[in-house]
Amino acid sequence: MVDKSDRTRDPGLLDELLTVRRGTAFWHRAVDTLDDDELDAPSLLEGWTRRHLIAHVGYNARAIGRLVLWANTDEEHPMYASPEERNREIDLGATLPARALRHLNHHAAVSLDVEWRDTPEEPWSYRVKTAQGRLVPLRETVWMRTREVWLHAVDLDNGARVADVPEHVLERLLGDIVGVWAKRDTDPGLAIHVEGRADLGVLGAGADDPGETAPKETVRGDLPAVVSWASGRGGDRLTEGVEVVPPRWL
Ligand code: ZN
Repeated sequence: MVDKSDRTRDPGLLDELLTVRRGTAFWHRAVDTLDDDELDAPSLLEGWTRRHLIAHVGYNARAIGRLVLWANTDEEHPMYASPEERNREIDLGATLPARALRHLNHHAAVSLDVEWRDTPEEPWSYRVKTAQGRLVPLRETVWMRTREVWLHAVDLDNGARVADVPEHVLERLLGDIVGVWAKRDTDPGLAIHVEGRADLGVLGAGADDPGETAPKETVRGDLPAVVSWASGRGGDRLTEGVEVVPPRWL
């Protein structure tokens, strides 16, 4: 048991925890409105049924729970033994009876929430390793999970839309995606305009070359449309650049 007084009082972190809880509730609502026989239908992620997606989100909570344990005990607990093991687990989870699959999904999320809640101040800055091998402070796991629950609710393809995701989540997500492109040097030199958000400026490698004479491609749309496109979930709501293929992000 952790003494309540040891829990974090960092207002920024408490806000992030609130956002992930809201996203988790959003995800569960999307799953809960599906009948058992609707679980077999494809998700928006290629090669995955909704069952695969639900198993993945459940096991992702457990995997992040291992990072919480790692930070709290100073004893290494990787998210997954290997990428193959991660995929094998998802394939197997997808074959669970509907009741067991739903239980996995709920139970894993509740456990993770409790583990975060009971983490005292200090371990939040402890460095853990993501599945991609990045070293990040434990606090980053809250954001990792935030992305998962909001976006995968959309991937269930039963009504949740990118436009339902809170604006501050979309903003941070877009920053992540553009950042990854820049770091991997896969940014195709696009100028990305987010309508109605002049404060975000023009994003992408094409944004900082005003002297450039060659015409560069432009992608334009409101924030949900741009995030949908940039995260590989379709650009059909863009007002410009619908045909532009975004580089891979994950
Ligand atoms: Zn995922």
